[in-house]
Amino acid sequence: MKAVTFQDIGSVAVLETPEPEILESTDAIVRVTRCAICGSDLHLYHGDIPMMPGDTCGHEFTGIIEDTGSSTTLKRGQRVVGTFHTACGACNACQRGEYHLCSSGAVFGYGPIYGSLNGSQAEFARVPHADVNLRLIPDDLADEAALFTGDILTTAFGAVKNAKVGVGSSVAIIGCGPVGIMAIQSALALGATRVYAIDLLEERLHLASSLGAVTINGSSTDPVGQILALTNGEGVDAVIEAVGGPRTILLAFEMVRPGGHIAAVGITAAQTFEYPLMQSLMKDVTFRIGLANIHRDIDQTLELVRTGKIDPTIVISHRMALSDAAEGYKLFDSRVASKVILIP
Ligand SMILES: [Zn+2]
Ligand SMILES: [Zn+2]
Repeated sequence: MKAVTFQDIGSVAVLETPEPEILESTDAIVRVTRCAICGSDLHLYHGDIPMMPGDTCGHEFTGIIEDTGSSTTLKRGQRVVGTFHTACGACNACQRGEYHLCSSGAVFGYGPIYGSLNGSQAEFARVPHADVNLRLIPDDLADEAALFTGDILTTAFGAVKNAKVGVGSSVAIIGCGPVGIMAIQSALALGATRVYAIDLLEERLHLASSLGAVTINGSSTDPVGQILALTNGEGVDAVIEAVGGPRTILLAFEMVRPGGHIAAVGITAAQTFEYPLMQSLMKDVTFRIGLANIHRDIDQTLELVRTGKIDPTIVISHRMALSDAAEGYKLFDSRVASKVILIP
């Protein structure tokens, strides 16, 4: 089968690789119908996260069940969306509902640190614990609409939930890449009445504005001053940091109101940062950072997409054949493409 393989830093290639086989009775083999290049794939592409040459990339995918182990309840021919990280469903963390902390969890196509599980930018993917890590796509939902519930949509939605956004909330979203755009839609779907979108790129802010967010261009204005001016000097109930890194996390502390919540969802290469202890103490801020718990929220996001409350497909800029993946990575890495879908 054809698969997108990591070759070297800045280089992927579509090569013939062996088709996956059922290894455990809980496995399923999925014939991939849609897969995406994720912002986090660029960490592999840049060599920030180690990959072995020849490893298959990718962790956002939908497909059709091709084959199943003897103990799954899934049936050949069913349409499914995969969660980007896997969970066993049985360990202590999974029993607590903390699927992202599963003791045997892995991330598809994310190298040896994340469980050496083959990726899903391929014609077929093996899914361990298939009953836990796949969701049926509702009949009235296209694969492409369901695709991001397995990663970026539910990642953003989970952060918005973690920041306690609800009916009437005011929310600032720092960073309007695909995850930030999903966070805007999630906040509105959960009842937020004022959403402020901050970015440096006008075209991203344009999309944010079309969703109903008040936009702030951080390259031409001081975003903290703007947020305070728009909230009577108080700050917002919640901030979603969707860039990654100390600088934007510290901005979040500046613009959150006393008693407010910050959820950081951007992936950062920084190991530490200088935590604003006194500010956090005086403002009684709750700061949360952690990997996304897709399994906790995916049923809710699938329903929000099915009922039209969220349209995740608006971030797609390029649809390409799987065989053109190397070009897709280049376009995505250079920001010519905002989101690339690969079609096997
Ligand atoms: Zn991802
Ligand atoms: Zn587990």
